[in-house]
Parts: sequence; C-alpha cells; structure tokens
Amino acid sequence: MLPTKLLLVVPCYNEEEILLKTHRTLQEYYTHLEAEQLISPESKICFVNDGSRDRTWQLIETICQNDSKSIGIKLSRNFGHQSAILAGLTQYTNDYDCFITIDADLQDDIAAIGKMLEQHRDGAMVVYGVRDDRSNDSWFKRTTAESFYTMMRWMGVPVVFNHADFRLMDRRILEEFAHFKEVNLFLRGIIPLIGFRSEKVFYKRLEREAGETKYPLKKMLLFAWNGVTSFSTFPMRLVLYFGLFNFFIAMAVSVYIGISYLYGSTVAGWTSIVLPMTFFSGANMIAIGLIGEYVGKIYEEVKGRPRYIIEKVVEVPEVRSEK
Ligand code: UDP
Ligand code: MG
Repeated sequence: MLPTKLLLVVPCYNEEEILLKTHRTLQEYYTHLEAEQLISPESKICFVNDGSRDRTWQLIETICQNDSKSIGIKLSRNFGHQSAILAGLTQYTNDYDCFITIDADLQDDIAAIGKMLEQHRDGAMVVYGVRDDRSNDSWFKRTTAESFYTMMRWMGVPVVFNHADFRLMDRRILEEFAHFKEVNLFLRGIIPLIGFRSEKVFYKRLEREAGETKYPLKKMLLFAWNGVTSFSTFPMRLVLYFGLFNFFIAMAVSVYIGISYLYGSTVAGWTSIVLPMTFFSGANMIAIGLIGEYVGKIYEEVKGRPRYIIEKVVEVPEVRSEK
C-alpha cells in the first residue's frame, strides 16, 4: 500500500512561546515518518491561527515562507479551539487522504502519530488518541477532566474516555462529517456518531513546556456544558423527574393537610406555607432556565452563522489570499 498523504492540523491561540519548537519537532518527525514509508512526501502541517493576540500569526507566516511543508490559516478572530480545528479540516478535505489534529503545545505525545498511521494502514477509519497516564497533569485538571468524561457517558453522550481532540480521521470520515451542520461544535461527540471502524492508540500526556493553558476553569466548564447540552436532553428529563417527584410529595402533603383539617388542628402555619413556596419556585426557575438553555441552542442553530471565517491562507510556493 502506498504511503498516505497526511495533513496535520494544529490549532494555535497565543502560542508564540512554543510555536517554533513545535514546528521544528513536527518537521523532524515528518522526516522520520517519510523514511518509514508511513506518509507521502506531499504531506503537510497546517497551523490555524485562532485570532491570537500575540505574535503567533507572524511566526506562522515566517514558518510557511521557509518551509514548503507548512500551511498557515488565519481566522478573522478567535472562534475557539473546535472551530479552529474544523477550519483546517474542511478547507483541505479533498486534498489529503487522512488528517490528524493535535494541540500546538505537543502535550500529546507525537510518537502516537506513527502508531495511528499504522492503524490507518490496517484499515481503521478513525484512530483516537487516548491518554492512559495523566500523572503529569495537576490533580485538579485530572480530576475535573475525568469526572467530565464520566458525566458525559452517564448522560448518554458517546465520548471516548480520556480522549481529547488528538485523533486521526480518514478523508471519508470528513466527507460524512460535512453533513453535520451544527454550529455548537463538540467534535468528540460527533466523530463517534459517524461510525466506521475505529481504533485507539494509548499514550502518556506530557507537561506543557511553555506558555500557559488556554483552557482555564471557566472555559473548561463552558466547554463541558456545551458538550452536554449539544448532545443530550438528559438534563431536561432530570428536571421532569424532579417535577414528578415534587408532585408526589405535594400529594402526600395534601393528604396530611386534609387529615389535619378533619381533626381540627389547622393552626395558621407560616413556615409550612413559605417553605414549600420558596422551594418550589426555586425548582420552577431551574426548570425554566434549563429550557431557556435549549431554546437558546435552537436559536443559535437556526441562525446558522458560519462556524469560522478565514481571513488569509499562506502556502508556499503559491500564496493564496482568498476564501
Ligand atoms: N486553542 C485555540 N483556540 C482557543 C483556545 C485554545 O485554538 O480559543 C488551542 C491552543 O492553542 C492549543 C489547543 O487549543 O493548541 C489546546 O489548548 P491548551 O493546550 O491550552 O488546553 P489544555 O491542554 O490545557 O486543555
Ligand atoms: Mg495543552
């Protein structure tokens, strides 16, 4: 079998401190992969600048001018990690045989790329990179991340445990993915929905060498919430169950009130009125808020705004500046 034409998509947001090193490491690794006959010489690396506020884009431009194996895409503003990945993938779906997405900080061990390519050669259409050792992550990151996967699975979202966005996808997967039009992107949930044969490759998650995480707690929580509400109506059902539970409690309370009335022991009770009132109005508010959340999602989807906007593409030898 011929070596595949690979495109590596690297989302970059304020990565000036690490970008050059990342490029160098990937470049060396490409030489190795080519020598191993795993990738063809036309394989490339695509850096997507997700509206960075530092010198990331300038660095990408310099890299692309000096290395014909690198492509730079500049988004018109910060669209978020998922959209940055999407931009690279959709822009080049028809030009490559297979695609791998990896974070710019190379916390995901690049040695797994070779293993992914081997699995692909053996017929896998999707290969998930799975972290089986997170000892380099802080206790906090590890615990929050792992409870995130557990919670997602519990709510019926088909995520692969401890797999982030480090994965290989065959071109066929992306062609099918093009039919998924949702604006609220949660790739980790969508890719398993596409089906086809998939495999896993295990690796050790390394430490971030420079720069800081672009996923502070607030963004992480938002990402998790987006994942849940884009994929599962379970929270709404939970509210329904809760409502039903309340209803039965209220029935029991009515019986109690009725009996007390018959026995003539009904003393005007302030507590017994105010307490349930506060409780149930709180429950109502939660339910309404939750419904609002989903209605908001529908609103965003109906508008169908673009998921990303490309300002510029740099690719040597020719320099393109359209799309
Ligand atoms: N990233 C991005 N846009 C954003 C936030 C992050 O393209 O708005 C990129 C970032 O440059 C990196 C990847 O997404 O390549 C993952 O971010 P990070 O390593 O900070 O996340 P962590 O590994 O800490 O979860
Ligand atoms: Mg990282």
